[in-house]
Amino acid sequence: MSLAIGVISGKGGVGKTTLVSNLGVTISKYFNKKAIVVDANFSSSHLGIHLNLYRNLSNTIKEVLSGESSLQQSIYIHPISGLRVLPSSLKLGKFNTQKFGKILRDLKKTYDIVIVDLAPGLGKEVINVAKHLDAAIIVTTPDLPSATDALKTVKLLEKLKVDLLGVILNRVSGNVYELTRYEIESMLKYPCSIAIPEDKSAIESLALGLPLVLYKPSSKASLAIKKLAAALIGTNYEPKDFGYRIKKLIGMIKEEPVILIKPKEKKVKNKLNKNEFDIK
Ligand code: ADP
Ligand code: MG
Repeated sequence: MSLAIGVISGKGGVGKTTLVSNLGVTISKYFNKKAIVVDANFSSSHLGIHLNLYRNLSNTIKEVLSGESSLQQSIYIHPISGLRVLPSSLKLGKFNTQKFGKILRDLKKTYDIVIVDLAPGLGKEVINVAKHLDAAIIVTTPDLPSATDALKTVKLLEKLKVDLLGVILNRVSGNVYELTRYEIESMLKYPCSIAIPEDKSAIESLALGLPLVLYKPSSKASLAIKKLAAALIGTNYEPKDFGYRIKKLIGMIKEEPVILIKPKEKKVKNKLNKNEFDIK
């Protein structure tokens, strides 16, 4: 059995769906693993948009939840990367998440990793999904509203007994008005796994429906995402190109390790024996 890892934040618009789509594409295309991304943001489903998959999809996770469609009928292939996608519907309407746990259990039998995109907020929609996760990654941007909601998310995960695997600091531009990595770590009492820089190409890649790691594979943001993806599957990533290696050699590039938080649950721990970090 593999792991179902959720990407969660509290605050909306911090980059969860961007991260889910890019991690999925990276693990599938660059690391050749069987990965599936699941849209569990039922009220404002965007994952299919990020992956350019919306063509009036008639079978989605909502139909699986309601019993109108089978899981197999509702999984799509992202053509460029081979990533599998279980999208959600853009239609409004009620949905019942009772079967969500079974969906994750079934997917874990087939895929090496299941990455779940959660809705913003910390209400029922999020809780009913989060409680079925094996582990979660929190995304925050370097500002107080986002970090405050990240802190609430830490508490929610503790309550639900879902392991926190990492905290991602997204859209970092280094401006003085931003919260620093240290300030966020002090607030959350957890280390930041990696910082992803602000990247103007992110919005272009969204408009194109082409994830950043495919649109700008060598950008700093793509590099950070690839490193995180590698850590999640227990390996390392380093660009092979000559320029990068020379820059590293002469100290122009400082390699920062990805810090994953040491999981408490044995189930998760066994799968992630590398890149562990001890929290007191
Ligand atoms: P969420 O899923 O948390 O609501 P999204 O992934 O939809 O957030 O991202 C919100 C917006 O932020 C999108 O326009 C996306 O392109 C942009 N974005 C995400 N990450 C970055 C980044 N590292 N640099 C610049 N823009 C980003
Ligand atoms: Mg989203």
